Amino acid sequence: MSTFTGVMNEFPGISVDRFDDDNLKSRIFFLSHCHMDHMCGLNNPNGLPGPLYMSPISAVIIRKQFPQIKEVVVLKGNEPTPIHYDDEDGTTKYVTVTTLPAFHCPGSVMFLFETNGVKVLYTGDFRLSKRLMLKMKLLKNVTGSLNTIYIDSTFLSKTYETFPGQIRSATTICDIIKEWLGKSSNHVISLKMPARYGYEFLFIEIGKRLKLKIHVNEGEMAMYRYIPELDNIFTTNSRKSQIHACFDWQNKNGKQLTCNPELDPSLIRVIKPTAMIWKEWQHSLDIVKKEEHENIRVCYSNHSSMSEIRDFLIYLQPKNVELNVVPADALKKQEMLNAVSAMLGNIESTNSDGSKSHLSEWDNLSKLSKLNFTFSKQPKDANEQFPCPPKRKKNS
Ligand SMILES: [Zn+2]
Ligand SMILES: [Zn+2]
Repeated sequence: MSTFTGVMNEFPGISVDRFDDDNLKSRIFFLSHCHMDHMCGLNNPNGLPGPLYMSPISAVIIRKQFPQIKEVVVLKGNEPTPIHYDDEDGTTKYVTVTTLPAFHCPGSVMFLFETNGVKVLYTGDFRLSKRLMLKMKLLKNVTGSLNTIYIDSTFLSKTYETFPGQIRSATTICDIIKEWLGKSSNHVISLKMPARYGYEFLFIEIGKRLKLKIHVNEGEMAMYRYIPELDNIFTTNSRKSQIHACFDWQNKNGKQLTCNPELDPSLIRVIKPTAMIWKEWQHSLDIVKKEEHENIRVCYSNHSSMSEIRDFLIYLQPKNVELNVVPADALKKQEMLNAVSAMLGNIESTNSDGSKSHLSEWDNLSKLSKLNFTFSKQPKDANEQFPCPPKRKKNS
């Protein structure tokens, strides 16, 4: 859950992934992907006081969901785009922005901001293996020259050193589905996700490999129907599918289908793709855990693991690191700080020019834990006020 304030020290007048309160003083805006904790304030009926830049897929969703936002600007992938804007003091500035794929959900991108020799990379949410990272030319070009990286630190903890690749997880899940649905045409799979969005890549793999449609509610379909990658993956007709991802916050264990409450529970196998519970996981271990009543947990993550984050930081050697996801819990926070400090020690030892990388200070964080943030309520529609996660506070 992003706790990023939306503002980068290097670029006053720009807000990224945060569009409420003080962010509305910004002149230009950027959206990395269409997950709710990155879209706070977009439902403002007055729209935004400047253009909102994003990937082509995000633009399709935003134009449909938030028609009151008048200036939606599409950025083509891997193409530097020069943008002029006035900062808060009215001074004309310019910045060149390039998007890179973030491999988190359809349309998700990282932003590379450059001006007068200042280079900043904002990852948004990302899942990047070392193999993919080494293939990306643009990353190679900025190695050693980034002033700051604003990074998705969701799993920056030694508890989550590594995760299986998304393809391995998807293959396993497809095998489990095939085995269960092979029993009879009455057997069904209930995919129980820990969050409403973020599993789109997995849905695509399931749909394509098994050539079966996945039942979702109209709420999710309202967003998915505009994403070309998701064409023919879903149906809102519950009777037309043996695979259900019809999200329901009330249905805690998924053992009853909300769309078909009469169905005999013994015909339902629940699959829970999760990352959080897979603490201390290693590649030699299984990625499947069987639970009671045919329920199965499979390790799946659309955020980078600790080792992927480490590879990324050591490869890029940024001068500063800002964490986009900071836990509210004091102990977890300290653990994250220790983990990233250890990584930065590693970067220092590899910096060729002898310069040091440092972690920006984040204090006053205890305040976050006092804020009562809840994300458990399913908004009825896109225009309903949705809850925003607390922004992390920083020492000035
Ligand atoms: Zn996300
Ligand atoms: Zn269903």
